[in-house]
Amino acid sequence: MKEYDAVVIGSGPAGITAAMYLARSGCSVLMPEQLAAGGQILQTEAMENYPGFPKGIKGYELADLFEAHLTGLAVDRPAAVVESINGAAGHFVVRASGQEYVGKTVVVCTGAHHKPLGLEGEGRLRGHGVSYCAICDGNFFRNQTVAVVGGGNSALEESLYLAKIVGKLYLIHRRDEFRGNRIYQDKLAALGDKIEILRSSVVTMLHGDKELTGLTVKELKTGEERKLSVDGLFVYVGYEPSTEFLPAEVERDGQGFIITDTEMRTNIPGIFAAGDIRSKLCRQVITAAGDGATAAQAAFVFLEQLHA
Ligand code: NAP
Repeated sequence: MKEYDAVVIGSGPAGITAAMYLARSGCSVLMPEQLAAGGQILQTEAMENYPGFPKGIKGYELADLFEAHLTGLAVDRPAAVVESINGAAGHFVVRASGQEYVGKTVVVCTGAHHKPLGLEGEGRLRGHGVSYCAICDGNFFRNQTVAVVGGGNSALEESLYLAKIVGKLYLIHRRDEFRGNRIYQDKLAALGDKIEILRSSVVTMLHGDKELTGLTVKELKTGEERKLSVDGLFVYVGYEPSTEFLPAEVERDGQGFIITDTEMRTNIPGIFAAGDIRSKLCRQVITAAGDGATAAQAAFVFLEQLHA
């Protein structure tokens, strides 16, 4: 089994930054890759708030630029899905797609994925009208009618993206006030009739057997229900951490996000966490990259102490 100073799990902004910093410090690094490097930014049309790109940058372009930083560095990147982590500091055994690798430290950067609404038929209709990725699926609904559920930045940002493609968009939010940034709310308001915002409303039923044909939406203040005919539903009701492979002993918050200190150390010596997988307030590309750099530095110090 090949042994590495660090196994970095996850190749989004946090993972790439951690791998880059560790490799530049002279550490040997393994970064198993489930999909293409870039993480969630690959599913983002444009980044408007990443410093250095005042005119915005396409998500995939930023992902390419992140990845380019790894060129020429000692980072092994097998295509593999991590299944488990066992062992202890100095000798963690990471199992990925049936292979075992040893890392003296582990940096967990697997981020989070969009939560389902939990409605009956949602799983069956996924890919048949129900989607969690506007960039991936929006084009299937060109000039058609879609609904977006949620009131955070994801729902607002993806509504703005979809509004350029679809014929009509309903934005359904369970409260009167949006959680997402005012700048996105103002842009949505400027779209006029193309978008209809249903506040204090929740989706109570999905219609359609093989394909989504519509939704039942309940107005919470009046209790009134109405049926909307839609071709697509995009669900943005928050994130869940991707931690299936993680040892149960790693401490998490009530929602399953990993608890770290300010240096990205978890409660298990030698295991660090960075990016959206952490329990924290601000989940942004810039904070993920910052976490990745901090985790790498902390792992480097840990390795020095291990070797002392
Ligand atoms: P979020 O901020 O947690 O928002 C989730 C939204 O879904 C909230 O409005 C919530 O309503 C609503 N919701 C939750 N459960 C629901 C349910 N069962 N039924 C109906 N609605 C439900 O999640 P997010 O928008 O995916 O964003 C996650 C993180 O990524 C945030 O920190 C966000 O700022 C960040 N992000 C940033 C950007 C950006 O800055 N460009 C873009 C995307 C995401 P309530 O408001 O009533 O709780």
